[in-house]
Amino acid sequence: MVESLDEFELIQRFFDQPITDDSVRVGVGDDGAVLVPETGRELVTVIDTLVGDVHFPANLPPDAVGYRAVAVNLSDIAAMGARPRWMTLALTLDEANEKWLEGFAAGLYAAAGEHNVSLVGGDTTRGTQKVISVQITGDVDAGMSMTRSGASPGDLLFASGTIGDAAAGLSFIRDGDVVTNEKQFLADRFCRPSARVSLGQALAGVASAAIDISDGLYSDILKLLDNSEVGGVLEVDSIPMSPALRNAFDDEKSLQFALAGGDDYELCFTVLPGKKQAVSILAEQCGVPITQIGEVQAGSGLGCTRAGRSFDFDHGGYRHF
Ligand code: ADP
Ligand code: MG
Repeated sequence: MVESLDEFELIQRFFDQPITDDSVRVGVGDDGAVLVPETGRELVTVIDTLVGDVHFPANLPPDAVGYRAVAVNLSDIAAMGARPRWMTLALTLDEANEKWLEGFAAGLYAAAGEHNVSLVGGDTTRGTQKVISVQITGDVDAGMSMTRSGASPGDLLFASGTIGDAAAGLSFIRDGDVVTNEKQFLADRFCRPSARVSLGQALAGVASAAIDISDGLYSDILKLLDNSEVGGVLEVDSIPMSPALRNAFDDEKSLQFALAGGDDYELCFTVLPGKKQAVSILAEQCGVPITQIGEVQAGSGLGCTRAGRSFDFDHGGYRHF
Protein backbone atom coordinates (compact mmCIF):
# COMPACT_ATOMS: atom_id res chain seq x y z
CA MET A 1 0.00 0.00 0.00
CA VAL A 2 2.90 2.36 0.53
CA GLU A 3 5.95 3.86 -1.08
CA SER A 4 8.97 2.97 1.00
CA LEU A 5 7.51 0.35 3.26
CA ASP A 6 5.27 -2.31 1.82
CA GLU A 7 2.23 -3.58 3.66
CA PHE A 8 3.85 -6.81 4.80
CA GLU A 9 7.02 -5.15 6.01
CA LEU A 10 4.89 -2.66 7.86
CA ILE A 11 2.90 -5.37 9.64
CA GLN A 12 5.97 -7.40 10.42
CA ARG A 13 7.93 -4.48 11.68
CA PHE A 14 5.34 -2.78 13.82
CA PHE A 15 2.53 -5.16 14.63
CA ASP A 16 3.99 -8.63 14.92
CA GLN A 17 5.59 -8.69 18.36
CA PRO A 18 6.04 -12.16 19.80
CA ILE A 19 3.08 -13.49 21.78
CA THR A 20 3.70 -15.51 24.93
CA ASP A 21 0.04 -16.11 25.75
CA ASP A 22 -0.83 -19.83 25.51
CA SER A 23 -4.42 -18.98 24.64
CA VAL A 24 -3.26 -17.70 21.24
CA ARG A 25 -2.83 -20.76 19.05
CA VAL A 26 -2.41 -18.73 15.85
CA GLY A 27 -1.69 -14.99 15.88
CA VAL A 28 -0.59 -12.43 13.28
CA GLY A 29 0.45 -13.92 9.93
CA ASP A 30 -2.31 -16.32 8.98
CA ASP A 31 -5.75 -15.73 7.52
CA GLY A 32 -7.24 -15.64 10.98
CA ALA A 33 -6.33 -15.84 14.64
CA VAL A 34 -7.10 -19.00 16.60
CA LEU A 35 -7.89 -18.38 20.25
CA VAL A 36 -8.58 -20.79 23.08
CA PRO A 37 -11.34 -19.69 25.46
CA GLU A 38 -11.42 -20.89 29.07
CA THR A 39 -14.11 -23.32 30.11
CA GLY A 40 -16.88 -21.65 32.09
CA ARG A 41 -16.09 -18.19 30.78
CA GLU A 42 -18.18 -16.14 28.38
CA LEU A 43 -16.68 -13.87 25.73
CA VAL A 44 -17.26 -10.12 25.60
CA THR A 45 -16.27 -8.31 22.44
CA VAL A 46 -15.99 -4.56 21.82
CA ILE A 47 -14.75 -2.30 19.03
CA ASP A 48 -14.09 1.41 18.83
CA THR A 49 -12.85 3.54 15.97
CA LEU A 50 -10.78 6.69 16.17
CA VAL A 51 -10.92 8.95 13.12
CA GLY A 52 -8.10 11.45 12.67
CA ASP A 53 -9.20 15.09 13.11
CA VAL A 54 -12.52 13.85 14.52
CA HIS A 55 -11.56 11.86 17.60
CA PHE A 56 -8.06 13.17 18.00
CA PRO A 57 -6.32 16.29 16.72
CA ALA A 58 -3.69 15.87 14.00
CA ASN A 59 -1.04 17.20 16.39
CA LEU A 60 -1.64 14.45 18.95
CA PRO A 61 1.61 12.50 19.46
CA PRO A 62 1.42 9.08 17.75
CA ASP A 63 2.05 7.14 20.98
CA ALA A 64 -0.96 8.88 22.50
CA VAL A 65 -3.07 7.85 19.49
CA GLY A 66 -1.95 4.23 19.89
CA TYR A 67 -2.46 4.22 23.64
CA ARG A 68 -5.90 5.80 23.40
CA ALA A 69 -7.05 3.48 20.63
CA VAL A 70 -6.52 0.56 23.00
CA ALA A 71 -7.58 2.27 26.23
CA VAL A 72 -11.02 3.27 24.95
CA ASN A 73 -11.70 -0.39 24.20
CA LEU A 74 -10.27 -1.59 27.51
CA SER A 75 -12.72 0.80 29.11
CA ASP A 76 -15.69 -0.84 27.36
CA ILE A 77 -14.41 -4.24 28.46
CA ALA A 78 -14.09 -2.88 32.03
CA ALA A 79 -17.65 -1.54 31.95
CA MET A 80 -18.84 -5.07 31.15
CA GLY A 81 -16.93 -6.48 34.12
CA ALA A 82 -14.74 -8.55 31.83
CA ARG A 83 -11.02 -9.27 31.58
CA PRO A 84 -9.46 -8.08 28.30
CA ARG A 85 -7.54 -10.77 26.41
CA TRP A 86 -7.16 -10.47 22.64
CA MET A 87 -7.04 -7.53 20.28
CA THR A 88 -7.25 -6.92 16.53
CA LEU A 89 -6.33 -3.70 14.76
CA ALA A 90 -7.77 -2.30 11.52
CA LEU A 91 -5.49 0.52 10.47
CA THR A 92 -6.14 2.94 7.62
CA LEU A 93 -3.26 5.29 6.96
CA ASP A 94 -2.87 8.31 4.73
CA GLU A 95 0.90 7.67 4.55
CA ALA A 96 3.39 5.09 5.84
CA ASN A 97 5.37 7.41 8.04
CA GLU A 98 7.81 5.20 9.93
CA LYS A 99 8.29 7.63 12.75
CA TRP A 100 4.56 7.93 13.27
CA LEU A 101 4.10 4.16 13.09
CA GLU A 102 6.87 3.58 15.60
CA GLY A 103 5.25 5.93 18.11
CA PHE A 104 1.79 4.57 17.42
CA ALA A 105 2.89 0.95 17.88
CA ALA A 106 4.76 1.83 21.10
CA GLY A 107 1.63 3.43 22.60
CA LEU A 108 -0.59 0.60 21.39
CA TYR A 109 1.62 -2.14 22.84
CA ALA A 110 2.10 -0.16 26.08
CA ALA A 111 -1.64 0.02 26.74
CA ALA A 112 -2.15 -3.62 25.75
CA GLY A 113 0.83 -4.78 27.79
CA GLU A 114 -0.51 -3.21 30.97
CA HIS A 115 -3.39 -5.68 30.81
CA ASN A 116 -1.73 -8.67 29.10
CA VAL A 117 -3.73 -8.21 25.93
CA SER A 118 -2.25 -9.84 22.81
CA LEU A 119 -2.48 -8.29 19.34
CA VAL A 120 -3.56 -11.30 17.28
CA GLY A 121 -4.42 -9.85 13.88
CA GLY A 122 -5.70 -6.96 11.88
CA ASP A 123 -5.95 -5.27 8.54
CA THR A 124 -3.87 -2.51 6.98
CA THR A 125 -5.14 -0.20 4.26
CA ARG A 126 -4.43 3.16 2.71
CA GLY A 127 -7.01 5.93 2.80
CA THR A 128 -7.34 9.67 2.76
CA GLN A 129 -7.10 10.03 6.54
CA LYS A 130 -6.08 8.01 9.58
CA VAL A 131 -8.77 5.64 10.81
CA ILE A 132 -7.94 3.29 13.65
CA SER A 133 -10.29 0.53 14.73
CA VAL A 134 -9.29 -1.62 17.66
CA GLN A 135 -11.37 -4.61 18.60
CA ILE A 136 -10.85 -6.35 21.94
CA THR A 137 -12.31 -9.62 23.11
CA GLY A 138 -12.39 -10.34 26.82
CA ASP A 139 -13.86 -12.97 29.06
CA VAL A 140 -15.92 -13.13 32.21
CA ASP A 141 -17.33 -15.92 34.40
CA ALA A 142 -20.52 -17.21 32.80
CA GLY A 143 -23.49 -15.06 33.72
CA MET A 144 -21.42 -12.46 35.58
CA SER A 145 -21.06 -9.66 33.02
CA MET A 146 -22.31 -6.20 33.97
CA THR A 147 -24.72 -4.37 31.71
CA ARG A 148 -26.36 -0.96 31.49
CA SER A 149 -29.78 -2.39 32.19
CA GLY A 150 -29.76 -3.64 35.79
CA ALA A 151 -30.32 -0.44 37.80
CA SER A 152 -33.37 -0.21 40.11
CA PRO A 153 -34.96 2.70 41.99
CA GLY A 154 -33.09 3.30 45.23
CA ASP A 155 -29.72 2.18 43.88
CA LEU A 156 -26.83 4.52 44.56
CA LEU A 157 -24.92 6.01 41.64
CA PHE A 158 -21.11 6.13 41.73
CA ALA A 159 -18.30 7.41 39.51
CA SER A 160 -14.67 6.35 39.59
CA GLY A 161 -11.66 8.68 39.47
CA THR A 162 -12.12 12.31 38.53
CA ILE A 163 -14.37 13.63 35.78
CA GLY A 164 -13.82 16.39 33.22
CA ASP A 165 -10.02 16.21 33.06
CA ALA A 166 -9.76 14.74 29.57
CA ALA A 167 -12.00 17.29 27.88
CA ALA A 168 -10.12 20.10 29.59
CA GLY A 169 -6.82 18.51 28.55
CA LEU A 170 -8.00 18.20 24.96
CA SER A 171 -8.77 21.93 24.91
CA PHE A 172 -5.13 22.63 25.84
CA ILE A 173 -3.79 20.14 23.29
CA ARG A 174 -5.91 21.75 20.55
CA ASP A 175 -4.54 25.16 21.48
CA GLY A 176 -0.96 23.86 21.70
CA ASP A 177 -0.98 25.17 25.26
CA VAL A 178 0.33 22.28 27.37
CA VAL A 179 2.79 24.44 29.27
CA THR A 180 2.27 23.87 33.00
CA ASN A 181 2.35 20.69 35.06
CA GLU A 182 -1.36 20.95 35.68
CA LYS A 183 -2.16 21.38 32.00
CA GLN A 184 0.15 18.44 31.29
CA PHE A 185 -1.74 16.35 33.84
CA LEU A 186 -5.03 17.19 32.14
CA ALA A 187 -3.59 16.55 28.66
CA ASP A 188 -2.30 13.16 29.85
CA ARG A 189 -5.75 12.27 31.03
CA PHE A 190 -6.84 12.66 27.41
CA CYS A 191 -3.78 10.99 25.87
CA ARG A 192 -3.45 8.08 28.25
CA PRO A 193 -6.82 7.37 29.84
CA SER A 194 -6.58 4.79 32.62
CA ALA A 195 -9.25 2.26 31.75
CA ARG A 196 -10.63 0.91 35.04
CA VAL A 197 -10.06 -2.71 34.17
CA SER A 198 -9.48 -4.12 37.65
CA LEU A 199 -12.32 -2.10 39.17
CA GLY A 200 -14.69 -3.30 36.44
CA GLN A 201 -13.87 -6.93 37.10
CA ALA A 202 -14.23 -6.43 40.86
CA LEU A 203 -17.65 -4.82 40.37
CA ALA A 204 -19.03 -7.68 38.27
CA GLY A 205 -21.56 -9.44 40.46
CA VAL A 206 -21.69 -6.49 42.89
CA ALA A 207 -22.86 -3.49 40.84
CA SER A 208 -26.39 -3.61 39.42
CA ALA A 209 -25.43 -1.69 36.25
CA ALA A 210 -22.40 0.02 34.75
CA ILE A 211 -21.29 2.17 31.84
CA ASP A 212 -18.01 3.83 30.98
CA ILE A 213 -17.88 7.56 30.51
CA SER A 214 -16.94 8.25 26.92
CA ASP A 215 -19.43 10.78 25.58
CA GLY A 216 -19.97 12.85 28.72
CA LEU A 217 -21.04 12.14 32.29
CA TYR A 218 -24.59 13.42 31.89
CA SER A 219 -25.38 11.70 28.61
CA ASP A 220 -23.71 8.43 29.64
CA ILE A 221 -25.62 8.24 32.94
CA LEU A 222 -28.78 8.95 30.99
CA LYS A 223 -28.00 6.00 28.69
CA LEU A 224 -27.61 3.72 31.70
CA LEU A 225 -30.89 4.93 33.19
CA ASP A 226 -32.76 4.62 29.88
CA ASN A 227 -31.42 1.10 29.40
CA SER A 228 -32.58 0.21 32.90
CA GLU A 229 -35.96 1.93 32.34
CA VAL A 230 -35.55 4.10 35.41
CA GLY A 231 -34.78 7.74 36.20
CA GLY A 232 -32.27 9.34 38.48
CA VAL A 233 -30.77 12.39 40.05
CA LEU A 234 -27.20 13.65 39.80
CA GLU A 235 -25.89 15.91 42.58
CA VAL A 236 -23.45 18.02 40.59
CA ASP A 237 -21.57 19.34 43.64
CA SER A 238 -20.50 15.82 44.44
CA ILE A 239 -18.93 15.08 41.03
CA PRO A 240 -15.27 14.30 41.74
CA MET A 241 -12.98 16.80 40.03
CA SER A 242 -9.22 16.98 40.10
CA PRO A 243 -7.37 19.90 41.70
CA ALA A 244 -5.79 20.48 38.27
CA LEU A 245 -9.18 20.99 36.65
CA ARG A 246 -10.41 23.23 39.46
CA ASN A 247 -7.28 25.35 39.34
CA ALA A 248 -7.33 25.73 35.57
CA PHE A 249 -10.96 26.80 35.27
CA ASP A 250 -13.68 28.49 37.29
CA ASP A 251 -16.50 26.45 38.85
CA GLU A 252 -18.90 26.83 35.94
CA LYS A 253 -16.40 25.86 33.27
CA SER A 254 -15.07 22.92 35.31
CA LEU A 255 -18.61 21.69 35.78
CA GLN A 256 -19.30 22.04 32.07
CA PHE A 257 -16.24 19.90 31.27
CA ALA A 258 -17.30 17.35 33.87
CA LEU A 259 -20.92 17.08 32.76
CA ALA A 260 -20.57 17.34 29.00
CA GLY A 261 -16.89 16.83 28.22
CA GLY A 262 -16.49 13.12 27.64
CA ASP A 263 -13.30 11.14 26.99
CA ASP A 264 -12.75 10.41 30.69
CA TYR A 265 -13.07 6.62 30.47
CA GLU A 266 -14.02 6.38 34.11
CA LEU A 267 -16.73 3.98 35.21
CA CYS A 268 -20.18 5.00 36.32
CA PHE A 269 -22.14 2.31 38.15
CA THR A 270 -25.09 1.65 40.41
CA VAL A 271 -25.30 -0.48 43.55
CA LEU A 272 -27.93 -1.47 46.06
CA PRO A 273 -27.64 0.81 49.14
CA GLY A 274 -26.73 -2.23 51.26
CA LYS A 275 -23.63 -2.80 49.13
CA LYS A 276 -22.15 0.66 49.61
CA GLN A 277 -19.57 -0.53 52.11
CA ALA A 278 -18.58 -3.56 50.02
CA VAL A 279 -18.08 -1.35 46.98
CA SER A 280 -15.88 1.08 48.91
CA ILE A 281 -13.67 -1.78 50.03
CA LEU A 282 -13.41 -3.16 46.48
CA ALA A 283 -12.47 0.23 45.12
CA GLU A 284 -9.79 0.64 47.75
CA GLN A 285 -8.37 -2.76 46.90
CA CYS A 286 -8.24 -1.71 43.25
CA GLY A 287 -6.59 1.58 44.17
CA VAL A 288 -9.29 3.60 42.40
CA PRO A 289 -11.21 6.32 44.24
CA ILE A 290 -14.97 6.17 43.86
CA THR A 291 -17.55 8.81 44.76
CA GLN A 292 -21.29 8.64 45.17
CA ILE A 293 -22.76 11.21 42.79
CA GLY A 294 -26.45 10.45 42.76
CA GLU A 295 -29.28 8.02 43.05
CA VAL A 296 -31.57 5.97 40.86
CA GLN A 297 -35.27 6.77 41.05
CA ALA A 298 -38.49 5.48 39.57
CA GLY A 299 -39.58 7.18 36.34
CA SER A 300 -37.33 8.37 33.56
CA GLY A 301 -34.72 11.00 32.75
CA LEU A 302 -31.85 12.44 34.74
CA GLY A 303 -32.38 15.47 36.94
CA CYS A 304 -29.53 17.47 38.39
CA THR A 305 -29.32 19.07 41.81
CA ARG A 306 -26.77 21.50 43.15
CA ALA A 307 -26.44 21.70 46.92
CA GLY A 308 -29.74 19.85 47.08
CA ARG A 309 -31.66 22.30 44.82
CA SER A 310 -32.78 21.65 41.30
CA PHE A 311 -30.17 22.64 38.74
CA ASP A 312 -30.83 23.07 35.03
CA PHE A 313 -28.23 21.58 32.79
CA ASP A 314 -28.59 21.77 29.05
CA HIS A 315 -26.64 18.67 28.19
CA GLY A 316 -24.59 18.13 25.06
CA GLY A 317 -22.82 14.80 24.94
CA TYR A 318 -20.97 13.77 21.85
CA ARG A 319 -23.09 12.66 18.94
CA HIS A 320 -21.57 11.46 15.73
CA PHE A 321 -24.51 12.46 13.53
P1 ADP B 1 -5.69 -11.39 4.45
O1 ADP B 1 -5.37 -10.88 3.09
O2 ADP B 1 -5.77 -12.89 4.54
O3 ADP B 1 -6.84 -10.70 5.10
P2 ADP B 1 -3.58 -9.71 5.30
O4 ADP B 1 -2.59 -9.84 4.23
O5 ADP B 1 -4.49 -8.53 5.30
O6 ADP B 1 -4.42 -11.03 5.37
O7 ADP B 1 -2.82 -9.74 6.69
C1 ADP B 1 -1.78 -10.65 6.94
C2 ADP B 1 -1.72 -10.95 8.40
O8 ADP B 1 -1.36 -9.78 9.10
C3 ADP B 1 -3.04 -11.41 9.02
O9 ADP B 1 -2.74 -12.35 10.02
C4 ADP B 1 -3.59 -10.17 9.65
O10 ADP B 1 -4.41 -10.50 10.75
C5 ADP B 1 -2.32 -9.45 10.07
N1 ADP B 1 -2.46 -7.98 10.06
C6 ADP B 1 -2.73 -7.16 9.02
N2 ADP B 1 -2.71 -5.86 9.39
C7 ADP B 1 -2.44 -5.86 10.71
C8 ADP B 1 -2.30 -4.84 11.69
N3 ADP B 1 -2.44 -3.54 11.40
N4 ADP B 1 -2.04 -5.22 12.96
C9 ADP B 1 -1.92 -6.52 13.29
N5 ADP B 1 -2.02 -7.53 12.42
C10 ADP B 1 -2.28 -7.21 11.15
MG1 MG C 1 -6.89 -14.23 3.99
